Amino acid sequence: MRVLITGAAGFLGSHLCDRFLRDGHEVVGLDNFITGHPDNIAHLMGNERFSLLRHNISEYTYAAGPLDGVLHFASPASPIDYLELPIQTLKVGSLGTHNALGLAMAKGARFFLASTSEVYGDPLVHPQVESYWGNVNPIGPRGVYDEAKRFAEAITMAYHRAHGVDTRIVRIFNTYGPRMRPRDGRVVSNFIVQALNNEPITIYGDGSQTRSFCYVEDEVEGLYQLFLKGDANPCNIGNPDEYTVKQLAEIVVALTGSTAPIVYEPLPEDDPKVRKPDITRARAMLGWEPKIDVREGVQRTIDYFRTLVGTPRMAPRGR
Ligand code: UDP
Repeated sequence: MRVLITGAAGFLGSHLCDRFLRDGHEVVGLDNFITGHPDNIAHLMGNERFSLLRHNISEYTYAAGPLDGVLHFASPASPIDYLELPIQTLKVGSLGTHNALGLAMAKGARFFLASTSEVYGDPLVHPQVESYWGNVNPIGPRGVYDEAKRFAEAITMAYHRAHGVDTRIVRIFNTYGPRMRPRDGRVVSNFIVQALNNEPITIYGDGSQTRSFCYVEDEVEGLYQLFLKGDANPCNIGNPDEYTVKQLAEIVVALTGSTAPIVYEPLPEDDPKVRKPDITRARAMLGWEPKIDVREGVQRTIDYFRTLVGTPRMAPRGR
């Protein structure tokens, strides 16, 4: 197969490139590097089955040659990124998805949308099953991401129904691992980077809110299997092991041996109180489930961030 992946220099996008290349496929990576980083795909330079297009998918997109798949992974994906880049976030979820769908249709390719557990908002159903419609504040700070992804799901289903495009929608739950941006702002990267830099570890609120953390290798295998074997209806891919944010802080402190203090900061607006995927559908349809437990995954992520200690990428944001 020959596939095009938007957001190829991002955290998930770059691992997905690796997954396709590992099976002998050809990958066209597309990125405009607003949140992606060249280091994430540096190892692919010189690989004759990989090529890179530096382009913004929110603009009209031309790609030469045949394509069997278009996988749309480009988007700011961290709450602090979409606060800084609200218009770009809305555009890549709406215009970017439209352009990527148009490209897939023109090439007769399968389309794969990276959607998110954020479509469930601050969920009133727990764990979240795909049939749940969600509880989203459209005008809150997270609305630019949540509503763009909800629109993206709607237009993907419209292309499927109206134009017969072969489509997939994955709802990705909190994922972590090597190649996360050190100052991305997400909880796993924040805690590890803070612990390694001996900075205070920042728990927002009282730390009783929950998330369910999936190691990137498990997540990407689920995405790949969904691309190959799934159907058009949305599918959760994530790890159902649920932890409070406070428990995660304790795990990071224990595994790094850090003596950094824990400090409590205000909870961001509309921060979901709980999150955990129901993965019954993925298990049945794909025969997939996550294998790597949080301690092992966090340890591997610590090992990655240790290699960056002392580099400019580990410096606090804004410097
Ligand atoms: N969080 C925290 N400290 C941090 C960063 C995040 O306590 O330094 C909390 C955040 O308030 C949320 C959870 O960790 O409750 C997960 O946040 P993240 O930004 O990783 O992703 P989200 O699941 O909210 O999209």
